[in-house]
Formats: sequence, structure tokens, C-alpha cells
Amino acid sequence: MNDQIQPQPGIMDIALYEGGASKVAGRTDAVKLSSNENPFGPSDKAKEAFARCAHSMHRYPSTDHAGLRGAIGDVYKLDADKIIIGVGSDEIIHMLCQAYVGAGSEVVFTEHGFLMYRISTMAAGGTPVEVKERDRTTDVDAILAACNENTKLVFIANPNNPTGTMIAPAELERLARGLPPQAILVIDAAYSEYVEGYDGGADIATRLENVVMTRTFSKIYGLGGLRVGWGYGPKAIIDVLNRVRGPFNMSTAQLETAEAAVRDQDWLERCRNDNTRLRAWLAEALAEKGVPSDTSTANFILARFTSTAEAEACDEYLKSEGIIVRRVAGYNLPHCLRITVGDEPSCRRVAHLIGQFKAQFMAGDLA
Ligand SMILES: *Cc1c(COP(=O)(O)O)cnc(C)c1O
Repeated sequence: MNDQIQPQPGIMDIALYEGGASKVAGRTDAVKLSSNENPFGPSDKAKEAFARCAHSMHRYPSTDHAGLRGAIGDVYKLDADKIIIGVGSDEIIHMLCQAYVGAGSEVVFTEHGFLMYRISTMAAGGTPVEVKERDRTTDVDAILAACNENTKLVFIANPNNPTGTMIAPAELERLARGLPPQAILVIDAAYSEYVEGYDGGADIATRLENVVMTRTFSKIYGLGGLRVGWGYGPKAIIDVLNRVRGPFNMSTAQLETAEAAVRDQDWLERCRNDNTRLRAWLAEALAEKGVPSDTSTANFILARFTSTAEAEACDEYLKSEGIIVRRVAGYNLPHCLRITVGDEPSCRRVAHLIGQFKAQFMAGDLA
């Protein structure tokens, strides 16, 4: 063992990311409600575009991503020159940290914030600063109080994962305007398409010089396995990010499939409407069985149990019945389970099983 070979400080302190489980031992019919995936998958047009790419795999992909940026610009009515494409929004988050964070930099996010913010901050040698939320909701005043002359980035997912709550655009703008001059607000809008009429922070990122918005094809577009995300913000910041981006970071299949996906807004609307209907149904069904949740604005529900033991026991019970949900102890919510809104049969099944579990747990059978 050569102890002269050492990574940069902080790297070995990073806790490895654990994705939502996708299998239950001994079962082939497990239903996965653990990663906030679109249960209906991508649009047929996206699948057709992906299949067509098989014929051009010997060709290097575009390096400027003009086709996909143009399509996003058309659909979202944004300037394509202020858009950057990445390997999921994870890569945009990573590029932001790589470009703006180093030793001595602080990066602020909330106590139930997305785990990637911490990982990318530490990978860049920066110091994560975790801020309390109020009733599982982003607290702008607490964030402003945590900022100082070392703050480089502030990450807010809106709607937030895993809480499902969101704050109003006016609150995001108040946050951006209150930041120290060297800090950038990153609005992570991974779930914004689930909120009808919400622009994800695009308007604020258009008007203010210190705001970047990140988006993804992994959620409502149903392309989590393909890995495509994008960022939008001031030209000066996008120009910086393009310098740390690998020129061939995106494959042809990623670019062409995402372009077809974004142009099929009819599919997106159908998925949003189904999600809205089934989410309301699921939340109410669980509440009736004694499992409350905050009003969710995303494609999942954060189900609250009376204790960590109860949440763990329910998770085990669901798994034994072939349903996989997400434990969120890593997000400082050990008494909760995050449940993705699946298709109608999955919603009915998970609600039914949680009702059975509650009845048994209350009777002491599983305690
Ligand atoms: C799922 C998710 C993303 C998307 O990440 P990708 O890398 O685009 O798959 C980003 N932010 C949050 C908060 C998420 O939950």
C-alpha cells in the first residue's frame, strides 16, 4: 500500500450515493416506487428517435448541442445561447461546483436537500453548509442568515425532493436579491413540470445575474436511464460552465432522443394530469389510514410515520409484498418513506398494503 498516493482533501469523506433500490430478492414482479420515475416511460416519439440513432453510432456527436438547445429554447421560450446540456442535471450541479467552488468555499443547501449538492461540493474541496427548514419547507431567512463572504453557491430544489414542498417564485427572488455579491443561487427545477403554470425559476434566471436554473429529462420526460439534463442562466455563467464541460459529454442518442421528447409536449401534459390526479388520490388514501403527508407538488409523496421503527417496519412489509419505496434516513427524515406516484394499480396496491400494515402495527403484530 503506497500511502503517498492520496486523493484531494475531502474526497474520502464523501458518503457514497445510494440510489433507490430496484429489486427484491426472490421476486421478478417487484413494483419500483423508489426513484421518482415516470411510470408511463418516455413518449413514443422519443423511443423512435432513439432507435434511429442506431444507424449513426460510428459518428461523433455534436459538441455544441445546438439541436437540443434550440428545441428547448423553442418549447420553453428561452434564449438557446444561455442553455447548457449535461449528463443529467447531476452533471450541471457538478460543473457549477467544479467552476465556482474550491478550498475555503461554502455551499449552502437545506437539511432535507438533494444529496448531490453535498457530494459535488466535497468533490470540489468546498465546505457544505446545511440550513434548517421550517415544517419541511425551505426557509429563505435561515438561508440568508447562513451566507457570508465565503458562500459561493446556494442550491434550492423547488419543488424539493424528498419533501415535495415548494416556495413561491417571489420568495426565490427575495433569496437571490439578498445573497452576498459573489454567491450564485441555483434553482433545481427537476420537478417543475409537475406544477402547472410554474416556470421553474426561468423568469428569475432571465432577469437576475446571479441565478441559474437546472432541469432534467429524468423525471416527467421518463428518460432517467438516458441521462440528460440542462442548465439555463446568465450568459457569463454558462460561458464558464462550457469551459469545464467535456466537449463530447453527450452522445448522439442522448441528444436526439431528448430533442424528440421535449417536442412532444402532449405526452408531458398527459403525464402531468395523471400524476396530479393519482397523487391527490394516494395522499388522501394514506391520510385515511393514519399516514399523513405534506401537500406534494411533485411526483412523489413523503409519508410520515409515528416513529423510525414504524417507517422501517412498513418498508420491510412493503418489500415482502414486492413494493419498493425509498427510505429517507439519509435526508434526515428517518420516520418517513418517500413513495413515487406510480400508475393507478400501483397506487391502489401501495395504499392497500400500508392500510394493512397500519392495522397490524397498531395491533402490535409487527412491533
Ligand atoms: C431526480 C433529481 C434530479 C435529476 O437528476 P438527473 O441527474 O437529471 O437525473 C435533480 N435534482 C433533484 C432534486 C432530483 O430529485
